[in-house]
Amino acid sequence: MTTIERVDLPGGRDLDVAVAEGARAYELDRAHVFHSWSAQAQINPMTVIASQGSYVWDGDGNRLLDFSSQLVNTNIGHQHPTVVKAIQEQAAKLCTIAPQHVNDARSEAARLIAERTPGDLNRVFFTNGGADANEHAIRMARLHTGRYKVLSRYRSYHGGTDTAINLTGDPRRWPNDYGNSGIVHFHGPFLYRSQFHAETEQQETERALAYLDQLIRFEGPDSIAAIVLESVPGTAGIMVPPPGYMAGVREICDRYGIVFIADEVMAGFGRTGEWFAIDHFDVVPDLLTFAKGVNSGYVPLGGVAISDRIAATFADRAYPGGLTYSGHPLATAAAVATINAMQEEGIVENAARIGAEVLGPGLQALADKHPSVGQVRGLGVFWAIELVADRATKEPLAPYGGSSPAMNAVIAACKAGGLLPFANFNRIHAVPPCNVSDDEVREGLEILDRALDVADEHV
Ligand code: PLP
Repeated sequence: MTTIERVDLPGGRDLDVAVAEGARAYELDRAHVFHSWSAQAQINPMTVIASQGSYVWDGDGNRLLDFSSQLVNTNIGHQHPTVVKAIQEQAAKLCTIAPQHVNDARSEAARLIAERTPGDLNRVFFTNGGADANEHAIRMARLHTGRYKVLSRYRSYHGGTDTAINLTGDPRRWPNDYGNSGIVHFHGPFLYRSQFHAETEQQETERALAYLDQLIRFEGPDSIAAIVLESVPGTAGIMVPPPGYMAGVREICDRYGIVFIADEVMAGFGRTGEWFAIDHFDVVPDLLTFAKGVNSGYVPLGGVAISDRIAATFADRAYPGGLTYSGHPLATAAAVATINAMQEEGIVENAARIGAEVLGPGLQALADKHPSVGQVRGLGVFWAIELVADRATKEPLAPYGGSSPAMNAVIAACKAGGLLPFANFNRIHAVPPCNVSDDEVREGLEILDRALDVADEHV
């Protein structure tokens, strides 16, 4: 199937009834819901009436292949039965409990996460999502070091709350930045659009590290609490760091007593074909933030995995922070079921294999065929297709921070073909669930192939 079509709903639900309910939901949404990141009067949000595995159904009852994993969170696919059942059973047993009390779901989730995170990240502080995980990681780093400044890279996203949006190194920060956050941005490695005039990955690594080292010396090493990096930057463009870069940042942090925070909110829990993206680089951060894939977003959950050294800071000194829903039973029960299912079903291994054997080569074949593709890059089920109007100049098909009729046409062609992509500026991201099948990926590639014909018209 390479065109959008109506398909029966899972679980025998009546399609016409669901479509009618969806229409009512749309009306109420437009009257009363205030949407994120949007000019309220200018949007036409898609209604979703059902989802299953790698698919969602829109308000007309059409089935779309979900190559977005929503906001890159349904790592285990939609409506995974084990996770749904675990949430139902937990709801019947214990819906909520204050964070100062112990509960079995939270304890078990913490154990499963601590066992999978690298090195001595042995303790978990639970939050409601990714932004507040980063807020708390920074607070911990500031208290641990007694320093204030935090470094983060351009071309990054760290969340929509106050410090997290200031950390963010992409245009979403611009209207939210009042310039007093103590955050300093730097350029990270991105060979395709190198800030360092590099021609090889090795040059890019060496120059990006030398520049970071110099920036720290000019900012004052004793004033810097933390460096925050997405292990593989996600919404900003899925730029896999070149060999040696993350290890180099680790060395720089050690040299100056700076806390290394790895943001694994999007790249963690299998997305790159390892439990955590930082595992590709054999680096152990001091703090690791996570959310999304920890329970596929079935119930909001995030957290900070904390090294023994930083945890020790708060052994006899109170940590000044907390959340009513920290380690919420429904969210952590969903995490336990998700992590166990990922382990038992080999879902992380599937993501690695799909990336190496099906999705990666398939996208490269599209890049070879379509002149509008400047570059495809990624790993696991975490790929970006960068679209350009001119391969030689690399002029993007939409400006940095903006959209364009050409990109809108490509996105529309994806949807008309039955594919829901994740799109940002001049990029289409191919980020299906980690348990996507080979056939589903081939179906997605076929639809992308036709959508890229539309992009080629603008070259
Ligand atoms: N960090 C990264 C790398 C993300 O991709 C995101 C969300 O996309 C966040 C943090 C923020 O997470 P949340 O939206 O759960 O607050």
